[in-house]
Amino acid sequence: MKVRLRNPDREVELAGGRKVHDVLGELGINPDTVLVIRERELLTREDRVGEADVIEIRPVISGGSGGNRMRCRRCKDPAVVEIRRHNAAFCADCLVRHVREQVKRAIEGHDMLDPSDRILVAVSGGKDSLALWDILLELGYRADGLYLGLGIGEYSERSHRIARAFADGRDAHLVEVDLARDYGFDVPTAGRKGSRSTCAVCGLSKRYVFNRAAREGGYDVIATGHNLDDEAATLLGNTLRWQTDYIARQSPVLPAEEGFARKVKPLYRLSELETAAFAFLRGIDYVVEECPLVAGNTQLRYKDAMNHLESTSPGTKAQFLFGYLDRAAPLFASQDEAELVGCERCGQPTTGRFCAFCRAQAQILGERLGEPQGGRDERGERLGEPQGGRDERGERLGAARDEPSDRETVESLSDEVMPVEMYGTVRR
Ligand code: AMP
Ligand code: ZN
Repeated sequence: MKVRLRNPDREVELAGGRKVHDVLGELGINPDTVLVIRERELLTREDRVGEADVIEIRPVISGGSGGNRMRCRRCKDPAVVEIRRHNAAFCADCLVRHVREQVKRAIEGHDMLDPSDRILVAVSGGKDSLALWDILLELGYRADGLYLGLGIGEYSERSHRIARAFADGRDAHLVEVDLARDYGFDVPTAGRKGSRSTCAVCGLSKRYVFNRAAREGGYDVIATGHNLDDEAATLLGNTLRWQTDYIARQSPVLPAEEGFARKVKPLYRLSELETAAFAFLRGIDYVVEECPLVAGNTQLRYKDAMNHLESTSPGTKAQFLFGYLDRAAPLFASQDEAELVGCERCGQPTTGRFCAFCRAQAQILGERLGEPQGGRDERGERLGEPQGGRDERGERLGAARDEPSDRETVESLSDEVMPVEMYGTVRR
């Protein structure tokens, strides 16, 4: 039997005539992290594979695989996907219905969207965001797409082609922004020249462009494809570092306020396995490969850790995230207070003179952003901290840097930056 593995692409020959479960066991693969595909059908752990079969084991982790077939929980037809945290399996039709229902439940439960809203869906070309766009269009919402070109070589080009093909196929409108063309730098350059990690500056750029494109395009709300796995991993990272302000901002919906479009995450109740299966079953062509820059990214390591916990205790991720949202989120809201004003350069909200994006952009392009604040004394020397002072986020202005503060160290370890400039405060 031939087995095609992805990321990186390779093929191995293994003995057939046994269950998918045993094949995955031999390969040391956690069944919750892959789709197993034969021709155009999905297989569950209990399905048998034959000696002459060719199967593809397709990872579902983004940002980073018979006789007694399982039966669909709803209609008792043979199942194609098993969702262990629900102790349930679904056939193709019922899985599609299940996913749409979970999205409706998220939207209604958090008042995410109104039928009259103009929605901008941030689409990366991956399974989650294209599934989200598909679902919103099917539900009759007025949803345009937004693709941001990050300049990550062939990976970005493929993502762009796939996002555009999806839009063309549905007669939907895709807004296109390109970081290099519109802002003068791409993500690989930012990683080399900036002080933040590549993933951190990429995340910062995305959040900035999403908000700006939504506001400038007259959209009411920006929707992203963050799923349960993304949100649980982010919460784990923020909790391990006790970034209480970031924790406070982690919500399936952040209402609009001065300078901010509303932000919603309608897939937060769905795992990657569910969104991947949905995208596959809906025939959505999506980018399976990982971003080549993401290897070793802290977010991926947290996902990995959560998957280990989930494999022995199905439901851990959902308990962690939903328990936080139900019971702990209100306790953190008081941790998030900030005065926001317009960035002197771009007008987007910020706590200082210049927003986090403009500061990062200036650093990458080697530009200076005006004089540090603090005034001068009678002799013309700067008041306040001798080396340029700090802005309100505790980042030092000016050139000289000595030892970073504990807080800076903690933030530099994070690939998922959630500055108040991009998110607004939770207390509104
Ligand atoms: P990530 O930040 O890669 O974890 O992606 C989270 C969400 O951000 C995705 O589900 C998309 O909604 C959105 N997104 C990521 N990359 C892009 C991109 N290049 N263009 C537009 N939206 C994106
Ligand atoms: Zn700015």
